[in-house]
Amino acid sequence: MDTMDTTTVTPDAKPGHENTNALHTVEAPPARWHWLSGPFERPGVRRATIVLLAVFALAFPFITGDQANIDAAGNATAYACLALGLNIVVGFCGLLDLGYAAFFAIGAYSFGILTSWQITPEWSGFWSPFAALGLVQKVVQNGHALVHFTVSFWIMLPLSGVIAAFFGVLFGAPTLRLRGDYLAIVTLGFGEIVPIVARNWSSLTNGAAGLNGIASPTIFSYRFGINATPYYYVGIGLVAFLIFASTRLRDSRIGRAWMAIRDDEIAASAMGINLTRFKLLAFGIGAGFAGMSGTFYVAKLQTATPDMFGFPVSVMILVMVVLGGLGSVWGVVLGAVLLQLLQSWFLGDLTQWVNAFGTLIHSGYLSSIDLTQASELLFGIILVIMMLYRREGLIPANRRQRALSFEQQHATVQMQKRASDITLSQIGGEGYRHEPGAVPMLEINDVTVRFGGLVALNKVNITVPAGGVVAVIGPNGSGKSTLFNTITGLTRAAEGSILFNGQEIIGLPPHEILRLGIARTFQNIRLFGTLTVAANIMVGQHARLKAGPISAILRSPKNLPEEKAARAWIVEIAQIFGNRLAPRLTQTVVGLSYANRRRVEISRALASKPRLLLLDEPTAGMNTSESLELAEQIKGLHALGLTILIIEHKLDVVTRIADKVIVLDHGDKLTEGLPDEVRRNEAVLEAYLGRGAAAHA
Ligand code: ADP
Ligand code: MG
Repeated sequence: MDTMDTTTVTPDAKPGHENTNALHTVEAPPARWHWLSGPFERPGVRRATIVLLAVFALAFPFITGDQANIDAAGNATAYACLALGLNIVVGFCGLLDLGYAAFFAIGAYSFGILTSWQITPEWSGFWSPFAALGLVQKVVQNGHALVHFTVSFWIMLPLSGVIAAFFGVLFGAPTLRLRGDYLAIVTLGFGEIVPIVARNWSSLTNGAAGLNGIASPTIFSYRFGINATPYYYVGIGLVAFLIFASTRLRDSRIGRAWMAIRDDEIAASAMGINLTRFKLLAFGIGAGFAGMSGTFYVAKLQTATPDMFGFPVSVMILVMVVLGGLGSVWGVVLGAVLLQLLQSWFLGDLTQWVNAFGTLIHSGYLSSIDLTQASELLFGIILVIMMLYRREGLIPANRRQRALSFEQQHATVQMQKRASDITLSQIGGEGYRHEPGAVPMLEINDVTVRFGGLVALNKVNITVPAGGVVAVIGPNGSGKSTLFNTITGLTRAAEGSILFNGQEIIGLPPHEILRLGIARTFQNIRLFGTLTVAANIMVGQHARLKAGPISAILRSPKNLPEEKAARAWIVEIAQIFGNRLAPRLTQTVVGLSYANRRRVEISRALASKPRLLLLDEPTAGMNTSESLELAEQIKGLHALGLTILIIEHKLDVVTRIADKVIVLDHGDKLTEGLPDEVRRNEAVLEAYLGRGAAAHA
């Protein structure tokens, strides 16, 4: 529902028309702008909550004073780290991984092997430098000089993250092309393989008996030993670091790319996101978190057996993530802690209650039942309850949103953008301008596209001059959308060539084509449904921003201005549509009207600073006044220097904006010409209306 439909449009600019009044109501986004609004919306409340939590976490060992409790809490920190890692893979990027514990195992065994007595090669001069660095020791056993690995926990903690990330990428590279169920099955297999390898590669892992004698960490010559407290504090530190890293990643270009992939892969790639690279990145970083957790966990237990990393563990981590809230950083930590506490305390208590009840009713079965090992039962119950009553988890990643107030909705009516009003400062890039030159911007030569036996495009030739507006019309099924898919690399042409500024683009992946300067919208709108309007438009800028994962986490001096300029730029773009989008920047797109979704999609395409904009039926679902308003806005963009190729059915829109009209029918180019010529063309009328009707028209 869009209450702004009452707006009257004045496409013909009246001289002296006052149009600047309401612009001041649009504010730049705040410096800390949460794309995925968490539970702590107000910064003050958020900060206070975090400080309180931190104080409690630090004071916990003193509050309880009980080693068993501290030990359980220490285990909970390890699982919280795992949940944070899996959250990146499943929650942020939407890749269902059922074998995540494999990376936990890799991190665990890396540390275990490099600090225990499991492998002791012959000593030789080669090892001397390592001995000098304290990584190995020379020991003499039965007259043999052997190498004993003594790599420090503090080195292994980051290193095992790197090792696990390496395996994540290695494993991900061939499999991440698979989607959904297929990926889940392959990860399930990988999750089974790693413990099996650990069980059978005895020389490396000591088989089912597990690694023994893993050295406990030391700090300033204080050895942790079996005291639970220092491990607990290391765990808290690790959780804090991973929360920090997850949050920074989530709020950066990287996190936006992941969430775009999760919401719509095709749109993500068409908006310039390299799917393979960003999926691998999620997989690698997620695996890295697991690797660090593995080292921590094994250092704490001082043993590693294959059973610690089996399928049930992967399931448990997944349940933690689902319980807390997919994609919610604080949620998954809460989920992990709750589930650990439930397992270590609740199941014991439950057993006692059931036993007491059994004694009461003289049931021998109930009075002797032991539920402490029934954690899978617990997982099952939790999953069913969560799916029935709270699918988004305990702390949802997305806040539920209130509708705009009456005043907010109606403040918009005063704002009307006319073509001549559109200005863009082109922050941080060369903007839309095309280089005037002899080559046409887009040259489509004899392109043929087939779907099996169906010829969707048959030797089509189209030229789009730089700075032109070309409209493509034709009945349904005539191949218009296929033309766009072929230009943007989503569909492969069987024959022909497509030159963009003289460069062949057939065969390039969609994200490369966007990078070159072709952006598009989709006929059946493809927005990133869980993201806000602002985040959707920000994704459009992906290819024009540079931040990598490390600079996103560190918020490097280069990254901050880039992000700031990007946010300022999306506000400018949203203002092309007057006040229709601007007050909705922080709303998720699912709540928008159809017309506003189209506007968001156009804004997202514009955010990529394209030189050629492809619009696929942009006015579909808009009423006449809205359509004409959009036509004006498109004219304004054209006046800024943008070249436009538009598929459009509404002939009054076409006549208003296009310099040239191309008519497609059954995959053939029927004709091309000026809008008025095409309108009178016999063959066109026939294609649209049928032979008999055309005669009467
Ligand atoms: P238009 O946008 O002009 O309505 P399309 O380009 O969507 O038409 O479709 C042209 C023809 O190609 C239609 O017959 C359609 O069914 C077919 N087509 C489009 N995409 C595919 C696909 N991915 N697989 C098979 N057939 C397709
Ligand atoms: Mg179409």
